[in-house]
Amino acid sequence: MSTRQKIEAMLHTIEVECSFTKGFTGRASLVPEVMEAMRLVSRHDFVPPALTAMAYENTPLPIGKGQTISQPFIVALMTDLLCPEKGDVILEVGAGSGYQAAILSLLVRQVYTLEIIPALAEKAMDLLQKLGYENVEVRQGDGYNGWPEHAPFDGIIVTAAATHVPTSLKEQLKPGGRLIVPVGLPFMHQELLVLEKDEQGVFSTRDVLPVSFVPLTREEIDRGTRKIEELDGS
Ligand code: SAH
Repeated sequence: MSTRQKIEAMLHTIEVECSFTKGFTGRASLVPEVMEAMRLVSRHDFVPPALTAMAYENTPLPIGKGQTISQPFIVALMTDLLCPEKGDVILEVGAGSGYQAAILSLLVRQVYTLEIIPALAEKAMDLLQKLGYENVEVRQGDGYNGWPEHAPFDGIIVTAAATHVPTSLKEQLKPGGRLIVPVGLPFMHQELLVLEKDEQGVFSTRDVLPVSFVPLTREEIDRGTRKIEELDGS
């Protein structure tokens, strides 16, 4: 199968999965713009070379440091749920491979994406630059606190599971904006939530789909844990 055929097969699988999950998501299909972005971004550029042959399978794949590039269906669904518009400025928490940011970059004006693991942040930054995704800015940091310098955002997408919706992200969303975030326990009982902020700043929340994401980790908490481990070891 050629890469082109693999991409078309991936798009077909996304359509099929959309119809399977319609009862949950309320969406039998995704908007054509999102499907087109999924067609245009080469997922094989974002997976490790050893996994290139699997790049267009509808499955998450390891990207190193215990992290994964999300399943194409989930990337497409989350992008669609965000209702991106051409002039939008979007924040992503969890850059990972940079794939979701690349998809978004074709649909909006500017994408800011945060990645907590330095090696992944650097890799995503270099790759997106090399591939010419000029309207994406990657920064290493804890996305729990958002990115205040560029706030408020038209939309925010979190690609790691939080135990609760971070208050800073709610604050950094524009009225009329949407926040897409998986919430639940590490690797268990997670639900994909869509929060909408109305013009008065009041939130409504919709439960979209049971999902399984890697956990949202915290810089300070992890540093604290490491310190305790160091003390234990001494
Ligand atoms: N959107 C990514 C999916 C990455 S998986 C892609 O398209 O490839 C989730 C990522 O979130 C991981 O790389 C993980 O390191 C990162 N992450 C976890 N907690 C984070 C936090 N508090 N701030 C920023 N990134 C975080």
